[in-house]
Amino acid sequence: TKYVYLFEEGQADMKSLLGGKGANLAEMTRIGLPVPPGFTITTEACKEYYRLGKEFPPNMMEDALQALQALEEKTGKRFGDRDNPLLVSVRSGAPVSMPGMMDTILNLGLNDVTVEGLASLTGDERFALDCYRRFIQMFSNVVLNIDHAVFDAVMEKYKKRHGLIFDYEIPADGLRSIITEYKGLVLKEAGREFPQDVYEQLQMAIKAVFESWNNQRAIVYRKLNKIPDDLGTAVNVQAMAFGNMGSDSGTGVAFTRNPSTGERELYGEFLVNAQGEDVVAGIRTPTPISKLKDELPQVYEQFTQVCQTLESHYRDMQDIEFTVEKGKLYMLQTRSGKRTAAAAIKIAVDMVKEGLITREEAILRVDPNQINQLLHRQIDSKAQLNVIARGLPASPGAASGKVVFDADEAERLGNEGEKVILVRSETTPDDIHGIVKAQGVLTSRGGMTSHAAVVARGMGKPCVCGCEAIKIDPAGQEFSVGDIVVKKGETISIDGATGNVMLGEVPMIEPTLSEEFETLLKWADDIRKLGVRANADTPEDAAKAREFGAEGIGLCRTEHMFMAQDRLPIVQEMILADTEEARRKALAKLLPMQREDFYGILKAMAGFPVTIRLLDPPLHEFLPGAEELLTEIAEMNARGQNNAVLAEKRSLLKKVYALREFNPMLGHRGCRLGITYPEIYRMQARAIFEAVVKLKKEGIEVLPEVEIPLVMDSSELAMLKREVLEVYEEVKAETGVEFEFAVGTMIELPRACVVADEIAAEADFFSFGTNDLTQTTLGFSRDDAEGKFIPIYLEKKLLKDNPFAVLDRKGVGSLMIMAIEKGRSVNSGLLIGICGEHGGEPSSVEFCHQIGLHYVSCSPYRVPVARLAAAQAAV
Ligand code: ADP
Ligand code: MG
Ligand code: MG
Repeated sequence: TKYVYLFEEGQADMKSLLGGKGANLAEMTRIGLPVPPGFTITTEACKEYYRLGKEFPPNMMEDALQALQALEEKTGKRFGDRDNPLLVSVRSGAPVSMPGMMDTILNLGLNDVTVEGLASLTGDERFALDCYRRFIQMFSNVVLNIDHAVFDAVMEKYKKRHGLIFDYEIPADGLRSIITEYKGLVLKEAGREFPQDVYEQLQMAIKAVFESWNNQRAIVYRKLNKIPDDLGTAVNVQAMAFGNMGSDSGTGVAFTRNPSTGERELYGEFLVNAQGEDVVAGIRTPTPISKLKDELPQVYEQFTQVCQTLESHYRDMQDIEFTVEKGKLYMLQTRSGKRTAAAAIKIAVDMVKEGLITREEAILRVDPNQINQLLHRQIDSKAQLNVIARGLPASPGAASGKVVFDADEAERLGNEGEKVILVRSETTPDDIHGIVKAQGVLTSRGGMTSHAAVVARGMGKPCVCGCEAIKIDPAGQEFSVGDIVVKKGETISIDGATGNVMLGEVPMIEPTLSEEFETLLKWADDIRKLGVRANADTPEDAAKAREFGAEGIGLCRTEHMFMAQDRLPIVQEMILADTEEARRKALAKLLPMQREDFYGILKAMAGFPVTIRLLDPPLHEFLPGAEELLTEIAEMNARGQNNAVLAEKRSLLKKVYALREFNPMLGHRGCRLGITYPEIYRMQARAIFEAVVKLKKEGIEVLPEVEIPLVMDSSELAMLKREVLEVYEEVKAETGVEFEFAVGTMIELPRACVVADEIAAEADFFSFGTNDLTQTTLGFSRDDAEGKFIPIYLEKKLLKDNPFAVLDRKGVGSLMIMAIEKGRSVNSGLLIGICGEHGGEPSSVEFCHQIGLHYVSCSPYRVPVARLAAAQAAV
């Protein structure tokens, strides 16, 4: 097996073998860009390493050493040579980008002898010693697992003693004494000498990179991003380019377009006289790339050209790492840049206009899961803001939350449902779990390309970074800006679009769609086959849904109308009624209210279909809890109160007990309510029809669909349909207005799928209620499952996804297919949609496309997601 490829031997499409970094280094080499020579040890070698119980596969190291010879020939330097030493970096690189999650070592090949060679060769003793110091620190950290902080302490001590502020002020003899101390530390901490044999260094480094595939943060990152654990990492060994050789040297990262807004402009940061890890680690705050134009104009010129070459070659926005050594540019990495949803959309649409990609490609370029973040709230521009500091606007969106200084605490509070803002001097990959649970991130150091910024943008979380005005005191659990002190637990707000940090909560406004977003969605509409409707219960939601492009309402839940403050007492009156007559009286009071609701919703959706579901939840949901009532009664008794109120409470309690169910999810609910209390459904049907009549008279086109929930047999549907039709006849007779409407059912029980042919004979439409269908098919009670055991199933890999989030194709999906086939076999005109929460989840939308549904219905804010996902499914 060939385990080692020179950069000249690879290309971009070999990512799974060479890793993303290796494949792209090869590609850049192939198209003639300035890349320091190197080679890649394959991911296969890594996998084999683990298969063999952490042993290098046979011949791998021999081949690597041969490739190293090729590097020696190309550079004219020799590995371990006392006069002209070759130094290399040993870099991890997985098939999927996992920025900063695994390890990289720079300046490998230095030892007590070669460091002197490097010094005399470059005529710069300080530089050589600085490289050696960095190398010992990095190697010891990555390979020997010695904490960075131990080494930092040595540096800090030295600087303090000599009254220095910056690392680069430390003179050569200072570095010599630091190196001696470093070596002592290694001996003490690792129990062995720092390796002087450069080949041993190389071998140990390669092993460490393989091992870093399974470090804690890489594992967490993979889990978070659903990256398989068995891909393995490649190892890139590359000749060093030195960014730390003076003021005409430096290192930087850049995006070919603005990753926050998508603007077509070079965007990035550059650090003079520095080596790579300084920028990425966010330890020093770098200067904007535009500064390079003033300082090294020729390099800047060449760099912009390289960026253009890369963009047109890859036909996508690139994220680039580079180094300048004494005025010479070296490219060290390129990959498709991570970007905010807003940027993804703008770049995709712009690239179509630039003729770089097609509309279909543009649609595929935007991740539907990601565009959720655009539907994020922003700070109301009219609001009075108490801005206390401003940092870099690193990831847009605004958030408020309680200040916490620790990722573990952020996670803990987040899990308890608290809104928190994680405040750190800088974040490291070890903080990811805290970022996940925070509303936003604020850092005092680091640039737009620092870890916090990259991670937050990926997750669509607001982030302000490099906010140097805030002084964090982790021990005191507070930060200060001037004389303002903000303690842990106090609320702040951050605005990732402006970089503002504010005290307290701020008013937010709802999002709207950008012009590019509208364009992309229009292209999506042209391509998709699935209709997209919204689940909406109020005229406001309906209007929002229309604005986001919904073509109707797929689910209007009438129970939400019953929950309103002013109605609940009447609803309770209805429930408590002992006789049908008393119940009718209460229902009569509800009728005009429901009619108004339906009038508003149908009007907001004029010209589009609206599916109105008749009452579904068990009645006791509208009553107070027994515990609550018992306490009240006990208190009244204690006060010696004995009047009509107490009597009323007592009879209420009796009714609550009577309605109590052992398993309400499978209890007296859905169409079973309509069967036992036909007058409830009749009232609702009347409210719908009277609203329709009113609208008809106003000349507004309405398309009502009356939906009967939780049907398990055609007889239920037949009986309730008869009631609905009777009410129609009544209303028609009373008003003299005739109109069209549909009667159909939700399909949310396995039995309904099995007897779907019989049900379809009675139905104009089916709408899959996949929330309940998932509960009843898997036998998982959602409220219990999601909190208690689904996380464990996911952990133990018994489930790939939460079935309530991502539709279970194998089980629930098969039942859906059966229901569709049976339903259509007797009723070819049957309209079929889905209204569970899956209707707004991209992979489920894809499935709905595949099985030939007419539409998906989802929450208004997910309508754009569904439009895009439906188009992607159709491309
Ligand atoms: P990561 O995957 O964490 O970005 P990299 O392997 O890209 O790790 O290395 C981090 C940084 O180290 C790079 O951005 C680059 O600046 C620097 N670096 C890596 N290899 C070299 C090299 N051969 N010469 C100079 N700098 C290098
Ligand atoms: Mg990198
Ligand atoms: Mg249901």
